[in-house]
Amino acid sequence: MQIFNADLHIHSPHSIAVSQSLNLDTMVATCKQKGLQILGTGDILQPEWLKYMQHNLQKTPEGAYQYDDIFFILQTEIEDMENIHHVVLLPDFQSVIKAQKKLRNHSKNLFNEWGGRPRVNLAPAELVDEITDIGGIIGPAHAFTPFKAIFRQNQYSNLEDCYHHALKKVSFIELGLSANTDLADRLECLKDVSFLSNSDAHSQSPRSLGREFNRIEIDNPSFEEIESALRRKDSRRIILNVGLHPKLGKYYNMFCYKCRRRIIFKKINESTTSIFNKYRITPQFVEYYSKDLERARKEFINTVAKGKMICPACKEKTSKNFKIKLGVYERIETISSYNKAQHPNHRPPYINAIPLIDIIRSVKNVKSSTSKTVLNAYEKMISQLGPEYEILIDLSLNKINNYDKKIGEIIEAMRNDQIIYTPGGGGKYGSIKLDLDI
Ligand SMILES: [Zn+2]
Ligand SMILES: [Zn+2]
Repeated sequence: MQIFNADLHIHSPHSIAVSQSLNLDTMVATCKQKGLQILGTGDILQPEWLKYMQHNLQKTPEGAYQYDDIFFILQTEIEDMENIHHVVLLPDFQSVIKAQKKLRNHSKNLFNEWGGRPRVNLAPAELVDEITDIGGIIGPAHAFTPFKAIFRQNQYSNLEDCYHHALKKVSFIELGLSANTDLADRLECLKDVSFLSNSDAHSQSPRSLGREFNRIEIDNPSFEEIESALRRKDSRRIILNVGLHPKLGKYYNMFCYKCRRRIIFKKINESTTSIFNKYRITPQFVEYYSKDLERARKEFINTVAKGKMICPACKEKTSKNFKIKLGVYERIETISSYNKAQHPNHRPPYINAIPLIDIIRSVKNVKSSTSKTVLNAYEKMISQLGPEYEILIDLSLNKINNYDKKIGEIIEAMRNDQIIYTPGGGGKYGSIKLDLDI
C-alpha cells in the first residue's frame, strides 16, 4: 500500500470566476509545492476541457491518469434541479462521454463554453442513479454551505430525505471549507459515510489549490482504488482529512443576506432584558451583547432558523427588512443530533490547517495575499524545507524553528489547535488573530 495526498474537487477556466492561467502545467507546479500527488481535473464534462485532458493525460499500467509526476482523477461538479451541488468522479474518458450523452437532454449549459459546472434538470436521487449507472461515484459538495448545498437552511437535515432509494449509492460527503469532522459528526445520519475535504479551487494559487485535501492509503492512484478507499474496502481508506479551520471558511458564521455583515456575540456583565436590543454595528459585524451568552445565542439562532430575524444594520441604514441567514456552524447546531461530535470508529483524524502563505503573511504583517515579498518567502521556504504540507504537518518543529522561529511558533500553535480565529461568513473568509507572544 502507498500513501497519497489527494484534492478531488477543483474547477477549470470554463467555470465562472476561475483564473484563466489554470492549466495542467500550473496545476502540477502547485501540487509539487503543496505536496499533493493526486488531483481532480475539474469540469471534465466541458467539451474543450475534456479535449485538453484527453490530449495530455497518459494512462499508467494500473489505470491511473498521469501528467508529469502528478496523477489525475476525472472529476466534475454538477448542480441538480434543487440547486444542490454534487462532486462527481468518473473512471475513464469513455464514461465521461457516456455521462455527457445521459445528461445532455437534461441540461441547457452542459456543452457551453462556461458550462464547467453544468446544471441538470434532475432530482438528487435521479442524478445519483445516472452517474452510478455508468460506474461513476458521487456525493454532495460542500454539504453545509448556505448556498447550493444539501444541508443549507430550509433544505434537508439528513441524507435519506434527499436521496431516498439512491442513498446507498452515495459514496461520500464533501465537508466544505467551513466545516470539519468535529462539526459534521454531530449528525447521526453521517456516521457511515466517508468524508472528503477538497479545495474547490478556482485558481492554481497555493492559497487555493490543495488548501484542503485527503490523505489516502491505497495500492495505486487509480479511480478504482479511490472508490475502494471511500467504501473502506480491502483495507483501502482515507487516513487523514486536512482542511482550513472552519472559522477560516467563507460561510462559518451567520450573516445578513444583504449587507453581508457577520453576526457575533460578546459577553457583558450588565443584564439586558432582551439581547435583540443590545447590539453594536461595525463595518463588518453586528455584535450582540449579553450576560448569558449561550442562552442568547440559542434564542437568536432559533429566531434566524425560523426566518424571522431582521438585520438591524440594514434596518437602521435603509429602513428596509433583510433577513439574517444561518452560517455553517449555526445550521449544524439546528440540525445536529449530538451536542458534541460522536466520531465513528472508521473516522480518520482531521487537521485544522492554515495555508502557509497566510502564516507568512501574518508574520511579515502583509495584508495582500498576492504580495511578491510573501510569495518569494513562500517559495524560498519550500525550496529549503520541502512541500508545504510536510512543513505544516510532518516536519519537526526544531527544523522549522531553525529556519524561522516566528513561523515555527505559529505552526506549533496550529498543530496544538491554539490559534484564535476571527470567523468568516457571508462570503468573507475568516482570519487568524495572532495574539501569540512573538
Ligand atoms: Zn459548488
Ligand atoms: Zn444587513
